[in-house]
Amino acid sequence: MADAPASTLLRDRSAAKSLFFGDILEENLFPYPRMRERDRELLAAMLDPIDDFVGAHAADLKRWDHDGEQSEAFIQGLREMGLFGLIIPEEHGGLALSNAAYARVLGQTSGHDSSVSLTVGAHSSIGMKGLLLWGSDEQKSRYLPRLASGELIAAFCLTEPGAGSDAASIRTRATKNADGSWTLDGEKIWITNGGIAGFYTVFARTDEGHGKMTAFMVEAAWPGVSRGPHEHKLGIRSNSTTTVAFADVRVPAENVLGEVGSGFKVAMSILNNGRTGLGGGAVGGMKRLIALATRQAKDRQQFGRPIADYGLVREKIAQMTIDCFAAESTVFMVAHFIDSGCEDYSLEAAMSKVYASEAIQRCAYEAMQIAAGNGYMREFPYEKVFRDSRILSIFEGTNEILRLYVALSGLKDVGAQLGELKSAVSHIFNDPIKGFGLLTGYAQRRFAQSSGIGGDRILRELPPRLRKCAGVYEHYVNELAAACDAALRKYGRGIADQQFVLKRIGELAIDLFVGSCVLSRADALVAAGDAHADAAQSICEVFTAQARRRMYRCVKGMQRNEDAGLDAIAGAMLAREGYPWDVL
Ligand SMILES: Cc1cc2nc3c(=O)[nH]c(=O)nc-3n(C[C@H](O)[C@H](O)[C@H](O)COP(=O)(O)OP(=O)(O)OC[C@H]3O[C@@H](n4cnc5c(N)ncnc54)[C@H](O)[C@@H]3O)c2cc1C
Repeated sequence: MADAPASTLLRDRSAAKSLFFGDILEENLFPYPRMRERDRELLAAMLDPIDDFVGAHAADLKRWDHDGEQSEAFIQGLREMGLFGLIIPEEHGGLALSNAAYARVLGQTSGHDSSVSLTVGAHSSIGMKGLLLWGSDEQKSRYLPRLASGELIAAFCLTEPGAGSDAASIRTRATKNADGSWTLDGEKIWITNGGIAGFYTVFARTDEGHGKMTAFMVEAAWPGVSRGPHEHKLGIRSNSTTTVAFADVRVPAENVLGEVGSGFKVAMSILNNGRTGLGGGAVGGMKRLIALATRQAKDRQQFGRPIADYGLVREKIAQMTIDCFAAESTVFMVAHFIDSGCEDYSLEAAMSKVYASEAIQRCAYEAMQIAAGNGYMREFPYEKVFRDSRILSIFEGTNEILRLYVALSGLKDVGAQLGELKSAVSHIFNDPIKGFGLLTGYAQRRFAQSSGIGGDRILRELPPRLRKCAGVYEHYVNELAAACDAALRKYGRGIADQQFVLKRIGELAIDLFVGSCVLSRADALVAAGDAHADAAQSICEVFTAQARRRMYRCVKGMQRNEDAGLDAIAGAMLAREGYPWDVL
């Protein structure tokens, strides 16, 4: 995202993973990044025309939501605005926006209709991202110009009837032919842009290579490629979702993406890299909801006063604002990590997706509650945002899988260092000076925590109100490290099956990361003398107080909880396949 803290950024370190070692990685989190000058200029020229074009189709979009399609003329308009070339390099005809600027564009389109964001986003974030990340120069020259113009719209084909979250279990198969080409057979389901795409990134099992899966670039026009009818969905209804089938499709050798056998890695890298697009869209949706809800609250009079005067309505508006600020601060921090060339941002991307996707659903719920009866009517925009946002915690990795991923990835690195801690501590008592030098950051912090030696303040000087907030994160980052340590000692490798424990660890880490982003953003707004810096500090204070209560519950829940009871209740219902009681 930014030009700003390039000098301090540690590209080989992950801010999210550091949390598991009791470390708030100040070098990467402070100061909060600013959008690059070039992106700001491009955005300044793009955002109003997007509003004009998409806004002019407001009535159409409502009709298309009902009918379940976007018109070809509308998609042509998106092409003409360059929206299919947002992140494609200029030499291939694109706009070469950063991830941050791209996420901001999706926020703008989501302010009107998230189906539009999805048409553009599935193309860029996942459909052709594999080509950008893994394609050879020849492959890029062959496809990127047509993808940038939107002549070819792209889609990402991973999911199958038997392979959803367990993506590695796909059955679509590619068999190598004598001439080096491949024959592709199988069926993919729920493919976004499936019905309008000309270019598919397809994942198939292959016999060759050390891995089991390979990524291929497949053109919709090739013999044997077909797509099913438009799926009728709860939300994002006008966006095309179809099955895509491959029957004896001949794929030339030069259309293998990345190495044969590295398809799983390719798929995961695409999803990690694309998650800020989804987050940016969610932020745009929340901003619209806040605008709608505040106007509604001021206009609607009940009991002789605007409902905006009532505490329970004000509470909702405040909470929506906190959720939006936290999601925005996190999504654009992650985009900055990607844009700055950080090597590992997979946890950060997962955390931002989980937080932003749930934040917009809370916002949509509260905005509808403020609008109440009106909110429930199709005539008003709330019910559509309510329906549209539901998908965000299901696709691009369900939020359950992402929470587990966050916890397990963090724990994996901690586990690897636990052995080191044991041997390093023995050195300290044999030779304190030399021994302490042998400790890594994690081991030092763990030693400081348990011995009371060392343990400096982690975060730099902040304005007094924010400094207080920082103290909460400094405390709970140690609690996270201690919880990981204790969980690993207790369960060893068996931790992978302890989902109740993993959920607490994942949630602690997400609150710590999101809270650090909020803190950094509020600090930057104060430093810049922003007109709303005071409100930003209040948001940081309230978010932190709420996060502290959540984190406290997670920490305490590691010792005392109802996990066994919950598990038993679920077991009983599963055995009976339903609820056994009635009042009759
Ligand atoms: C509208 C829409 C658009 C989509 N677009 C695309 C697309 O463009 N390309 C594409 O490839 N796919 C796409 N998908 C597929 C989407 O990514 C999958 O739906 C998603 O990965 C989840 O898979 P599933 O629905 O089969 O759920 P399942 O994997 O069957 O999961 C069901 C439930 O079980 C939970 N669960 C599963 N495994 C575990 C576990 N180990 N531990 C705990 N909980 C678990 C899940 O979190 C979920 O709550 C789309 C789906 C939809 C609905």
